[in-house]
Amino acid sequence: MPVYSVVIPCYNEQEVLSETHKRLTKVMQDMGESYELVYVNDGSKDNTENILNDLQQSDENVRVVHFARNGGHQIAVSAGLDYASGDAIIIIDADLQDPPEVIPEMAKKWKEGYDVVYGKRASRKGESRFKKWSASAYYKVLQKLAGDIFPRDTGDFRLVDKKVADVVRSMPEHARYLRGMFAWAGFKQCPVVFERHERFAGETHYPLKKMLKLAADGIISFSDKPLMLSLLLGAAFSIISAISFLVLLICAIFGARGGLWWIAAFMLMLSGIMLICLGIAGRYIARIYEDVKGRPLYVVAETRGFKEEK
Ligand code: UDP
Ligand code: MG
Repeated sequence: MPVYSVVIPCYNEQEVLSETHKRLTKVMQDMGESYELVYVNDGSKDNTENILNDLQQSDENVRVVHFARNGGHQIAVSAGLDYASGDAIIIIDADLQDPPEVIPEMAKKWKEGYDVVYGKRASRKGESRFKKWSASAYYKVLQKLAGDIFPRDTGDFRLVDKKVADVVRSMPEHARYLRGMFAWAGFKQCPVVFERHERFAGETHYPLKKMLKLAADGIISFSDKPLMLSLLLGAAFSIISAISFLVLLICAIFGARGGLWWIAAFMLMLSGIMLICLGIAGRYIARIYEDVKGRPLYVVAETRGFKEEK
């Protein structure tokens, strides 16, 4: 088993692959320990398949997984994790936006005893203002909804210990938000700050639509608070309708006729009741969802004192 496995998801990356391979190989060889490069070809339509096969022919450290169809970045990385056999697994994009030269620094932290070393972006060069702004706003919302477990300004570029990879492998959910799943797993985590570069060549495969899907997956997979929304709205409507009834009643005592306002207050009350019922159903759905995700109940880092170590 190699010490390091590097997982590289590739989708239509023919322009960058040979440069990526060169830089990764240089870095990994300088580290002086055994390693494997696990390239996952995520159903590319260009020449990626042949380039990867050639790399595998000429370099014994290369493993290649070809998908039969495009599964998406998070799925490709998940497959890479399944096939990787190293003691430490590094996840890195194929387009050199995550510089391979940061890997030795991550490995150093790993040897110091950290189980997850995530790349924290110092700057977002070459990214539009909109992307920077939306990313920052998104992380704020995510942290509010899902609790404080998610580090900001991190992508999927990271080194994880085998035991953390095993936890994520044991999480069978289909909508995968890996950076969240690694954060959820716990263990000792620490950042390494790096400059995120512009794409070496080619173009992004993350158009706005895919980005929004990933963002929604992050929230929906790690928070059931959106299901609380109708409960809150229902409560608000009910309170407003109660106040309306009170006002109408006082008006009636002083002889004023409420007329249609009574109907309006009644409708408000009905909507409130319906929203509250929906919210209650939502709480049950949250429970079902929690169980359907099939995540482990707890994650043990170590046990001591048992006769047979579990
Ligand atoms: N990728 C993938 N499958 C996809 C889309 C992207 O495996 O369906 C890979 C891609 O080859 C790259 C990484 O995921 O290695 C990140 O994608 P990209 O650079 O297009 O995203 P961005 O950096 O612009 O967010
Ligand atoms: Mg990229």
